[in-house]
Amino acid sequence: YAPLAEIDPQVQNIIDKETWRQFSGLELIASENLTSRAAMEANGSILTNKYSEGLPNARYYGGNEHIDELEILCRKRALEAFNLDPAKWGVNVQPYSGSTANFAALTALLQPQDRLMGLGLPDGGHLTHGYYTAKKKMTASSIYFQSFPYAIDPTSQLIDYAGLERQAKIFKPRLIICGASAYPRDWDYAALKKTADAEGAYLMADIAHTSGLVAAQTLNNPFDYCDIVTTTTHKTLRGPRAGLIFFKRDGPNSQDLEKRVNDAVFPACQGGPHNNTIAAVATALLQVSQPAFKAYARQVISNAQTLAAVLHAHGYKLQTGGTDNHLVLWDLRPLGLTGSKVEKVCDLLGITINKNAVSGDASAQTPGGIRLGTSALTSRDMTEEDIKVVAGFLHQAVQLSLFLQKEAGSRLLKDFIRAATTKGSAGTAQVNA
Ligand code: PLP
Repeated sequence: YAPLAEIDPQVQNIIDKETWRQFSGLELIASENLTSRAAMEANGSILTNKYSEGLPNARYYGGNEHIDELEILCRKRALEAFNLDPAKWGVNVQPYSGSTANFAALTALLQPQDRLMGLGLPDGGHLTHGYYTAKKKMTASSIYFQSFPYAIDPTSQLIDYAGLERQAKIFKPRLIICGASAYPRDWDYAALKKTADAEGAYLMADIAHTSGLVAAQTLNNPFDYCDIVTTTTHKTLRGPRAGLIFFKRDGPNSQDLEKRVNDAVFPACQGGPHNNTIAAVATALLQVSQPAFKAYARQVISNAQTLAAVLHAHGYKLQTGGTDNHLVLWDLRPLGLTGSKVEKVCDLLGITINKNAVSGDASAQTPGGIRLGTSALTSRDMTEEDIKVVAGFLHQAVQLSLFLQKEAGSRLLKDFIRAATTKGSAGTAQVNA
């Protein structure tokens, strides 16, 4: 029972350094947030010791009376957080992450090699929505299913619903997935439902990025139209790292959905649930249901819109010209900069952002933009006035990148980038999280 610092000072030291990094810098990665202390306490609890394969009151191991109570509570809170009637919707709270939630949902809805359509990754979609390249099928969602991506309109940069409708008529998908990792606008679920119905397809929304904003009723409600809704719990929802799968209990496509989703999570895709995480999810969902969270969600959006407005006023190009949600996609190509260069420069300045593909990028490996999100800064109580200062920092970071590249020659920029990389930052390929 000795504390971590005593048993393993090396790991404690890494945690201390990361704590300092998170709180001394500006976190603008759109998929990240700051989980509450209460949720982290639950996450670090003794519940990690327990095996509980199966569902409440139907477990494979004994000793699960308290775990059953916990999972039932978590389900109840998940439905309450999204204002769902338990007669009409159910939820599985066991997925370890958004990716496993999505693969379990595909397993529940489809047979191997069935057809699905999701938003293409270069247009803001996620790997788990069927992504593949001309060279390789590298995601389970494209290896085990036939996938055909839909796109955004190159001019408006909004989802091309008419194009999707046309392609769906030809491709005949069994499933249409909506939701994204890098799309700054809201979704027209009614239009998607119309297309899905016309083809006899299921409609699934992956609201991983926006679920906190959906729960706070600040964005359109996918539950009015979709058969399945998946989400991560750690982005705008501000919980620990995990996933949820909501399934419809009534209506035309809902036959057996509950059993199919539950069987897909366990035993098809996962083993024992991570009960410590489920406890932390339950705590986070309790917080989501409180009035303060609604105010938080509204502030997240207002902060993102302020960020977009300031950058726009500086003359920068933003994908779709602005935002409806928590994220801003900044197209750096008119400046002759790549996303990775600006990401590295920002890293050295203590501003954490990520490079991101923007509409028309030739390669997802050297994307021409960056993605910014306001969820984490808003959790630190930042408001519009603070965000204007942050936007000023970003303006300076981009001007510095330009200076290093243009005025002082690209050699200096490369040295600068090498210094940032040596410092321990950066990945290589761009993938939306
Ligand atoms: N779905 C979307 C839309 C995402 O942005 C992400 C984030 O990476 C995921 C799913 C996967 O979530 P996780 O990283 O928890 O597996």
